[in-house]
Amino acid sequence: MFDELRPEVLVVGAGPVGLFTALSLARRNVNVRIIDTGVWACTHSYALAVHPQALDLFAALGLRERILESSYPVHRIAFCDREGTRVAVDAGDSAHPLAVVRQDALENLLEDELEKLGVKVGWRQEAAAITPLDDGARVLVQKFEKESRGYIVAHTEWVVSKTWELEPRFVVGADGYNSRVRRTLDSEFPEIAPAQYFAVFEFRTDADLKHTVRVAFDNGTTNVLWPLPGGAARWSFELPGYTPQAPDPVEALRRAGFGDFPSERQKDRVPLSPGLDLPVLDEVHLREYLRERAPWFTGSIEKLTWRIVVRFERRLAKRFGAGRLWLAGDAAHLTGPAGVHSMNLGFWEGSDLAQRIEAVLRGGADPRTLDEYNARWLGVWRQLHGLERAPAPGAQTDPWVASHAAQILGSLPAWGAAYEDMAARLGLAVQG
Ligand SMILES: Cc1cc2nc3c(=O)[nH]c(=O)nc-3n(C[C@H](O)[C@H](O)[C@H](O)COP(=O)(O)OP(=O)(O)OC[C@H]3O[C@@H](n4cnc5c(N)ncnc54)[C@H](O)[C@@H]3O)c2cc1C
Repeated sequence: MFDELRPEVLVVGAGPVGLFTALSLARRNVNVRIIDTGVWACTHSYALAVHPQALDLFAALGLRERILESSYPVHRIAFCDREGTRVAVDAGDSAHPLAVVRQDALENLLEDELEKLGVKVGWRQEAAAITPLDDGARVLVQKFEKESRGYIVAHTEWVVSKTWELEPRFVVGADGYNSRVRRTLDSEFPEIAPAQYFAVFEFRTDADLKHTVRVAFDNGTTNVLWPLPGGAARWSFELPGYTPQAPDPVEALRRAGFGDFPSERQKDRVPLSPGLDLPVLDEVHLREYLRERAPWFTGSIEKLTWRIVVRFERRLAKRFGAGRLWLAGDAAHLTGPAGVHSMNLGFWEGSDLAQRIEAVLRGGADPRTLDEYNARWLGVWRQLHGLERAPAPGAQTDPWVASHAAQILGSLPAWGAAYEDMAARLGLAVQG
């Protein structure tokens, strides 16, 4: 019988990558537990598209049709400047589109599927300390509850209501930007390129977006127009030279040493508050960005439903794990938003980890198979960051494509051979 305190795998973090990894493990009959400091799954769409390649992973779990039902299919990526489209490339076909689906819808689907297998996400539970062991790890888990204090001014604060220790044989750190699993591994997380800020707006529009994502380059900025399900759109505008006006309260607390508290699903990637009062987010600015960077967008701007400034760092962990502790998703890598890489490759990493861990637990495979996991995904990410085997323009490449090569490559929703193929169709080839 399954010893609850000794699961075969503990997944830390119930974001999209943690949920997907836990489901991949559970479907392989691996005893898995999954915990998250948050109160529930996220309530908005952050990363908003599943790559055509990643749909195959969902197909293997019997979930591809469910995703397609609730998504808006994108078949083309158009690269533009102020004048309009300069070049376009197919992004999938009708069976494998780039599926625009809300991240919260995706997370809810994964959580429901996990529950069907008897795996309940342990919300409000934090992996507070992790000790690597030769054949597993010891993890101190803290459970938080809200407690009311005081009687003159009612005041509610989070308190640790319970602690216990788990001894899993493997830990998967899908615990995002500020990953405790990564910090336990002492894996450096260097910056590969400077952080980028984006002003993001979602609104209803009458524009016919024709199943196309449009990536508009202007004066060194990358700006992306995503069609969303239900006649809506998301525009993201890069803000060069932007400096936040006020530090995010969560970040400020963390810097002051109050790092270990839960919040409603701490989205560590967003050091800025939704800040509807930030001037860069008012409708006047939205119209100005459009006039300057994409005057060809003539669709209506009906009700603005969401706006936010997001900071995207670009980092890559020195290693994806060691021994019994392994990383997937944002815990291991961060990048810009246009190619939706961090979440989608996180699904592949989670799937790969599930296979390898099952092989060790059930098939007696050498745990060193996981070292290959490290080498494989470091290589994939180094290519995406342009650090090795980067596709490059040649003599025949369209001069406009050649002059925007780095921005185009960062926006391709694919990895590995599919990424190289998409780049080659645009005249950007891997040399040698
Ligand atoms: C506003 C916004 C807009 C975005 N837009 C895009 C976009 O356009 N394109 C794109 O590709 N990506 C975008 N992203 C990024 C995208 O959301 C992430 O890449 C994706 O969520 C990564 O998933 P993950 O599961 O690896 O990590 P996360 O979603 O960050 O999940 C990590 C989870 O771990 C939990 N956790 C952390 N520490 C612990 C601990 N010690 N114990 C227990 N639980 C813990 C956290 O509560 C969190 O739920 C956006 C993000 C934000 C915030």
